[in-house]
Amino acid sequence: MGVIEIEVDPLPCKWCRRPLEQRRWWTPKRFCNGWHRLKYRVTQFFALVGTLLG
Ligand SMILES: [Zn+2]
Repeated sequence: MGVIEIEVDPLPCKWCRRPLEQRRWWTPKRFCNGWHRLKYRVTQFFALVGTLLG
């Protein structure tokens, strides 16, 4: 009897680059927590504003 094993590549946190254990392959984690996600979004926002303002 075979057990289906799904290999999931460990993704690093987009903010602090810490490898994240992927428990649910259908919803891959990209951040350690919501705080890191928020800081990343804020950084992206200001990068966009900076690009628009040239
Ligand atoms: Zn992080």
